[in-house]
Amino acid sequence: MVQEISRRSLLRATATIGVLGAGVGIGTASTAHAATGFYNPFTGYPISDGWAEHIARGSLGGIDYAMPVGTRLPAAGGGVVTNTPYNGTGGHTVTIRHDNGYRTQYMHLSQFLLGDGTRVGMGDVVGLSGGAAGAPGSGSSTGPHLHWHMIDPNGARINPLAFLESDIPGVPVVAPVYETGNHNWQPMLVGHNGQALYASTISAVVRADGTKIIYSVRDGRLYEAASNTGWRNLQVPNHDQVSAVSAVAQGDGIVVYTVRGGAVYEAGNHNWQPMLVGHNGQPLYATTISAVVRADGTNIIYSVRDGRLHEAASNAGWRNLAVPNHDQVSAVSAVAQGDGIIVYTVRGGAVYEAGNHNWQPMLVGYDGQPLYASTLNTIVRADGTKIIYSVRDGRVYEAASNTGWRNLQVPNLNGVTTVAAIQTGGTVLYTC
Ligand SMILES: [Zn+2]
Repeated sequence: MVQEISRRSLLRATATIGVLGAGVGIGTASTAHAATGFYNPFTGYPISDGWAEHIARGSLGGIDYAMPVGTRLPAAGGGVVTNTPYNGTGGHTVTIRHDNGYRTQYMHLSQFLLGDGTRVGMGDVVGLSGGAAGAPGSGSSTGPHLHWHMIDPNGARINPLAFLESDIPGVPVVAPVYETGNHNWQPMLVGHNGQALYASTISAVVRADGTKIIYSVRDGRLYEAASNTGWRNLQVPNHDQVSAVSAVAQGDGIVVYTVRGGAVYEAGNHNWQPMLVGHNGQPLYATTISAVVRADGTNIIYSVRDGRLHEAASNAGWRNLAVPNHDQVSAVSAVAQGDGIIVYTVRGGAVYEAGNHNWQPMLVGYDGQPLYASTLNTIVRADGTKIIYSVRDGRVYEAASNTGWRNLQVPNLNGVTTVAAIQTGGTVLYTC
């Protein structure tokens, strides 16, 4: 697991350099850390005054990094920004309130860049460094540098470097979204005007008019990006606390299912008011979901809760039924085929297949070998072949029903945590 986090940190740090076009030292995080969703953006700068030195001279604590005035300051983690001008000895101060209750503070800034209340992702630039003696916003600083500390949920100032090495739960890791087609497996960064689209999880869908749409989750907010707008990424209103998403095309619209605060919500793209899904006013609880439209137009949600697979159908007032013989489930992906549905699950680390007319799950693999995965997404090709795209150890694999589920590694895709596949002409994969 530590290795996994390390690779993600490295991937994220590399992407940060590209996106920000930043100078030396930005985003060179290179050490494994346990506080997922956070990194040290300043490892390339010398520490001019450490935590112990701060305490020794009566400060509440901090880490000072020497850097030129005007250096771009990336957020160490996602959260919401507050600017405090002329904050006593700290001078111009940016505070990022993270979703896990911790705060990050950067001091002695020469310039604020974002408005109060702006939500940022890990790596977004929140201001410009300062600290020149006597300059506006420098506070007590006598030379160019950044002062960085964190504050725990009880209000105590803490060492950010210790926090990064801690086991304290953070916020979900965000990573750039890539697109690749099955005739050309070279991944292409998805985004608008050269800006990457960052997400912690995604669901992709093709609208009836052929537009490809990516629903992505970042810092608990749902976003929509469409291929016909150069992947301009728009925040979907009224969708916060989102941890999972599954979108389906229906008619000429799209219906989006999200898990928000542990319960499943439904919203259409013509009316973004989310509606709690459930039967008789009871929420439908889940940790992850996969939605599918059956040939008769019924929307079906397969949800995982406490490791059990459940099925809820729109024609039954979303009555939620436990699917038999499905335990230890950690991921699910369902596809419509003919008038039925085929459900793929990851159970105990291996992929299983079951049809909704016969819920006996069958281990999927080639020559009796299990197909191991951490997550998966499935599609049905025009010729009826079912394809499973699975993620294992950060790599994407393709297994097809017409080859006895022979599992082939997709080239050029690594550092992956999530995969979303769509069928439009060929197959298009989105990864993050
Ligand atoms: Zn300091």
